[in-house]
Amino acid sequence: MQSGSPEAVEGRDFEVGPGVVRAARGRPYERQPDDPLYRPLRIFSLDPTVSQLEGAVAEVEVPYEPLGPGPVGALFEVDDADSVQRTHWGRADLDDSAVLLRNGIAPSVTNPLFHQQMVYAVCATVYHAFRQALGRHVSWGFEANRGEAEQRDRLRVLPHAFEGRNAFYDREAGELRFGYFQAEDDATGRTPPGGVVFTCLSHDIVAHEVTHALLDGLRAHFCRPTGPDVLGFHEGFADIVAVLRHFGHRDLVLAAIRRTEGRPEGSGLLTGIAHQFSQSRGSTQPLRTAFESMAAGCTEPKPYAKDQEPHEIGEVLVQAIFEAWTTVFNRKVEPYLPGRPSVPTRPPGQQAGAGVPGHLHPGHRLLPAGGHRPGRIPAGLDHR
Ligand SMILES: [Zn+2]
Repeated sequence: MQSGSPEAVEGRDFEVGPGVVRAARGRPYERQPDDPLYRPLRIFSLDPTVSQLEGAVAEVEVPYEPLGPGPVGALFEVDDADSVQRTHWGRADLDDSAVLLRNGIAPSVTNPLFHQQMVYAVCATVYHAFRQALGRHVSWGFEANRGEAEQRDRLRVLPHAFEGRNAFYDREAGELRFGYFQAEDDATGRTPPGGVVFTCLSHDIVAHEVTHALLDGLRAHFCRPTGPDVLGFHEGFADIVAVLRHFGHRDLVLAAIRRTEGRPEGSGLLTGIAHQFSQSRGSTQPLRTAFESMAAGCTEPKPYAKDQEPHEIGEVLVQAIFEAWTTVFNRKVEPYLPGRPSVPTRPPGQQAGAGVPGHLHPGHRLLPAGGHRPGRIPAGLDHR
């Protein structure tokens, strides 16, 4: 087709790429006058290892759209094909009246229909956050190298795509693929040794992966590793979104404030990433953290080096953002907690809140004395 300024491009042919067509065709559902605003759905606020007292389950308000079994909406289609078991785990029908009356399918580690609901709800709420922040629709950037994906407008989400300790955004296929695996014998916390761990039940992993897809739609060339910081930015940005979503889960935030005596930045509940994934390998610390330096009680920022792998470079960005967030938070709460220092500069080894006047709740402390992350697992997800 011919288009553009007649002086500059006269006589030249242009081809509209499939990404442009998809952006024009794949649009979010436009709410009709009689539609409800939201569809309330329950999810694990972090993952199945969080206790009820810490806000294990969150009810999120997913912007309403009619859903087909899958669920399949305007932007996402959940497909629970399991290539390992050679089976299909069914299709959750969230528009079924019995399901609607119960605010969705009850959270369950063993019910694949809930797994499908969980990935849909997290993906849809993260997408909505982007749409609200930008004030516009975000189109997908996935490639169309495979014939079938060329015709598809929706991002496909496979909650049980393969067996393995991994999850990733496949831009060639236009898919989010989540693995599942067996926890090791020395698994810690509430992760049973030898039990099956589903990455699709980790709020952080789902939010992280769908953010890769959204960022790819916004900046397609950021997938090209022209320098170490490019992929590092992708990883850091995906982690920032995952952690910020924690703050939308009220019970989780309340639990974190109580447990850290008013210093939520020191709570692994809010600033830790992918707890169960890490526990399944015997670690007591999250896979990554948004607030390492302060949580460890030291004032040194996380070092930056160009030979770090992308997740570690991204962690530098995440921690910089949350250090700024903590400074603002402390300024805001200072009038209500007189005597509380505005910046937490406690000496190494001192526990959170110890000796600080103005505690919200005395008692239990989350962080161990001394180093923050013994046995830390530096590996990230996303490898293919
Ligand atoms: Zn990633």
